[in-house]
Amino acid sequence: MTWRAFGSPGDLDLDFHSADRPVLVSRVLATCRSGCDPAEALEQAWSLSLGARIGALAEILARTGEEDALVVPLTCPRCAEPFEVRLSLAAIGELGREARGPRVEVRLADGPRLALRRPTGADQRRWLADPDLDEADVLNDLLLEGDMPAQAPGLLARVAEAMAEADLLPAFAVHSACPHCGHADDLPLDLEGLLLARLAGQARRLIRAVHRLASRYGWREADILALPGHRRAAYLDLLDQEGTWP
Ligand SMILES: [Zn+2]
Repeated sequence: MTWRAFGSPGDLDLDFHSADRPVLVSRVLATCRSGCDPAEALEQAWSLSLGARIGALAEILARTGEEDALVVPLTCPRCAEPFEVRLSLAAIGELGREARGPRVEVRLADGPRLALRRPTGADQRRWLADPDLDEADVLNDLLLEGDMPAQAPGLLARVAEAMAEADLLPAFAVHSACPHCGHADDLPLDLEGLLLARLAGQARRLIRAVHRLASRYGWREADILALPGHRRAAYLDLLDQEGTWP
């Protein structure tokens, strides 16, 4: 399964303002999937695990931009000073590929041995539609083998923890030390939201490029979007240079 860079004809049809995050992620993955029928690509996007979906967004972003890292602004919870962490897009993509396997084995020292499915985009959409679901319902939904310790909330929490460890990206936390006061902490990050925001930024840049090139050359939007990115960039560079000519 491979994904191409964002920025081809049709990509601007994606609505990054959509409040329905699972639908948006599935559409981005289906739109930017290479070598696959669109309907099949959409169906496969829904069946990918949440971690694999996040990894795929990182792969699309890595192919799209010049940057190889996701730069995340953070605020120290102790001294309230701002600082940044850089997360490698390649590393996020790799964790996503590891999260494509469907099964997670969970062994608890004093509890049952369980096998669970990794949660998929389709699961997430179904769970979001049912606000009465609790953690036990969700884990039971994912259970493939074994008996869930329904009467032991402590064990249930450990099953949830083991699932989060096996699928790092959906509930990601970055371990960081504040450069101002040295305070070290695990800070939770919404990787999916951060990656979508970066792709939304790419969409805005693309719209600006279309606007500049259409205004100057009179080209149609479809023709501008059909140009390879490096050729759009070359024309935009020329327009920038024109602005500095005497
Ligand atoms: Zn600090």
